[in-house]
Amino acid sequence: MPEINTIGELLHWSYANLAMAHAAVTAKAEKYGRTHFMIRARLYAGLNKQTMNIGSIVDDERLKMILPQACCYCGSRDHLSADHLISKKNGGADTGDNLVWACRSCNSSKYAHDVLEWFAKENQFPPLLMLRRYLKLAIEISHARNLMDVPISMAPELPFALSAIPTQFPQPAELRLWVVDVEVGA
Ligand SMILES: [Zn+2]
Repeated sequence: MPEINTIGELLHWSYANLAMAHAAVTAKAEKYGRTHFMIRARLYAGLNKQTMNIGSIVDDERLKMILPQACCYCGSRDHLSADHLISKKNGGADTGDNLVWACRSCNSSKYAHDVLEWFAKENQFPPLLMLRRYLKLAIEISHARNLMDVPISMAPELPFALSAIPTQFPQPAELRLWVVDVEVGA
């Protein structure tokens, strides 16, 4: 793991790990290999140097059509309502990127928790596509507030849970793309 000092480095490192994990999971790899580590290293360097950027909105729009209408925490299809991935109360946006489905029971057990903190409390690693949206939103917020170069130790209060951003990812066999099975093309 590289030395991580700033909010931007932390978010980029997590996003680069996510890309590595996503590539490995969609290739049905059991463990990370050389190609996967190269994806991570290249993306991390590229994001920090701003020669690369995070995935396009078009890609996410396409995913939204593929992702089934199910609670993003437990996969239930009953009593769904729209929920904010980054809590509106904490300053999350009211845009489509920030909206997910949640069932009534998860909505009430989660209430004020941040979604990453909620998954950590449940001892689960968040589904990759959810984490991807979360990181994209966190990166957008940090850019908009000029926080990417701010040291982590000097981070102001944020709408997302900086301390819950994962920097180490489990092996691909232990990861899932979404709470229910989805087929996502390359
Ligand atoms: Zn649920």
